[in-house]
Amino acid sequence: MTTMLTSFNARTGEALEHVPSSTPAAVDAACDAAAAAFPLWQGAAGPERAALLRALAVALETDRAELVALADRETALGPVRLNGELDRTAFQLRRFADLAERGAPFAFVDDPAVAGAPPAGHPAMQRWSVPLGPVAMFSASNFPFAFSVLGGDTASALAAGCPVVVKAHSGHLLLSNRVFGLVQGVLAALNLPAGLIGLVQGGGRDIGVRLIRHPAIAAGAFTGSTQGGAALAAEAAARPRPVPFFGELGSTNPVIALPARLATDGAALAATLAGSITLGCGQFCTNPGVIVLIDAPQSGLDVQAVNDGFVTQLAEALRPQQPHAMLTTAMRGAFEAGVAHWAQAGADLLVQDTSAAGQPPRPVLAQVSAQAFIDRAALREEVFGPGSLVVRAANLVQALQVLQAVGGTLTVTLWGMDADTGQTRALVRGAMAIAGRVLFAGVPTGVAVTAAQQHGGPWPSSTRPESTSVGDAAMARFLRPVCLQDAPAWLVERPGRPV
Ligand code: NAP
Repeated sequence: MTTMLTSFNARTGEALEHVPSSTPAAVDAACDAAAAAFPLWQGAAGPERAALLRALAVALETDRAELVALADRETALGPVRLNGELDRTAFQLRRFADLAERGAPFAFVDDPAVAGAPPAGHPAMQRWSVPLGPVAMFSASNFPFAFSVLGGDTASALAAGCPVVVKAHSGHLLLSNRVFGLVQGVLAALNLPAGLIGLVQGGGRDIGVRLIRHPAIAAGAFTGSTQGGAALAAEAAARPRPVPFFGELGSTNPVIALPARLATDGAALAATLAGSITLGCGQFCTNPGVIVLIDAPQSGLDVQAVNDGFVTQLAEALRPQQPHAMLTTAMRGAFEAGVAHWAQAGADLLVQDTSAAGQPPRPVLAQVSAQAFIDRAALREEVFGPGSLVVRAANLVQALQVLQAVGGTLTVTLWGMDADTGQTRALVRGAMAIAGRVLFAGVPTGVAVTAAQQHGGPWPSSTRPESTSVGDAAMARFLRPVCLQDAPAWLVERPGRPV
C-alpha cells in the first residue's frame, strides 16, 4: 500500500496536498540509476558539467514566480527572502559551472621524477582527484532552494562529477517535486540520463536511512538538525562499506562584545543584533543564539553599567520585532520547549511576550551567568527560532571557558577587537579554536558564496570540521585524491584521465 505524505500551509497549518511516499524499491531504483549514470558523468568534461548547471539555473529563474509562491505557502518565509534565496541558488549553480569549466575538478599536482636515492629521489608522480560516486543529499527545511533539490550540495557534487539522489524535506514536498520536474526536463533536453539527479521522499526515517545505506551511495551531504545529522552519520559509518557523511548541523554562534565598543555603539549594535536574531523568524543555522558580555572591571569605564545598558537596549530593540510564522508547527513547539528548558536551567527571561493564539512566536531574550552556562549542557543547546541567551562572564578567563563549553559552532562574532592586546589575541584564539568562521564586524546571518567561505565547524556544528558546505571548497568534499606514479606517456597526455 502506498503511504501518502501531506504538504501543509506553514501559516495556517491547513493541509495543501498529498504526495506518495517513495517505496523502498523506488529508493533502490534511484540509487541504481545514479550508479548507472556515474561513468558517463565522471567522464564529462568541464564545459558539459557547466552546461547542465547553467541550464538548471535558467530553469529555476524561468519559473521563479510560481516556485516562490509555492515555497511561500509551504514555508511562510515570504517572497522577499525566497526571491533572494532563489537568486543565491542560481548564483551557486553558475559559480560551480564556472569552476567546472575552468577545470577546478581536474586540477592536479605534478611532481616530476627526482634522480637519486630516497628519500630525496623519487619517481614521477601526479596527484589527481576523482569523483567519489553517487551522493545522497538530505535537504534542509529552512532553505527550500539553497540547501534543497538544486542547492549547494547538488551543485558542488555535480561539478565534481558525482550523480545525486536528493531526499526531499517533508516541510516543502510540493516545491521539491516541482523543482524536480524542472530537473527532469533539463536532463532530457540535454540528453543526459534521468538517473543523474534523483529524488526520494518519505515521512518517517525509513526512506532516508535506506538511502544512506544503499551500496551504490558513496557519500552523504546533509543540512539539518544535530540530532538528525548524528543519526544519519552513524548510519553512514555503520554500513559494511562506510562512506563519508558531510553533515552541516545546528549551531549557537556566540557573539562576544567588549564593553568599550558597547559604550560607544551599543544602541546601533543592539538594533543590528535584534534584526539578526529575528531574521527569518530566527530559523538560520547562523542565528546569533548566545551573546557573551564580560563584566571585568576596567579603568575609566563602568563596565557593569555599560553591559546592563546594552542588555536593556537589546531587549528594547527586540520587543517591536514581528517574526513571521515558523516553518512547521513541530518547529514552533520545539522553540517553545527550548525556551522553557532555558528557564528550567536557571536563565532569567528578560523578553518573553505571549503571542495570541494562532499568531507567530514573539522574540525571546534570556540571561544567565557564565558559570551556569558552563555547568549546564541544557543551556548550550541550539534553540531554533527568534531567541537569544545573554551569558554574563566575570572575566576574560570565564569568557574563554564559555567558548570552550560551546565546543563547536559555525561562527563566532567578536566586536571591539581593533587593538592588538593580550585580551583580543586570547579571544581570537578562543574563537578560532571552535568556529568555522570568525567575524569582526556585522552579524553572522548571511553567508556569502565565495572562494574563502568556510561554512562548517567542529562538532556539534558539523560532522566534518575540515569541510565546508558553502563556497568553492564545497566541491572538494566529493573528490578523492589518486596519485599516479610513473604513469605511461599516453596517460600523462590525456591528462591523467583514461576516458
Ligand atoms: P532535520 O529535522 O534534521 O531534517 C533534515 C533532513 O534529514 C530531512 O530530510 C529529514 O527528514 C531527515 N532526517 C532527520 N532526522 C533523520 C533521521 N533520524 N533519520 C533519517 N532522516 C532524518 O532538520 P531541519 O529541521 O530540516 O532543519 C533545522 C536544523 O537545521 C536547525 O538545527 C538548523 O540550525 C540546521 N541547519 C543547519 C545549517 C548548516 O549549514 N549547518 C543550515 C540550515 C539549517 P524529514 O523531512 O522526513 O523530517
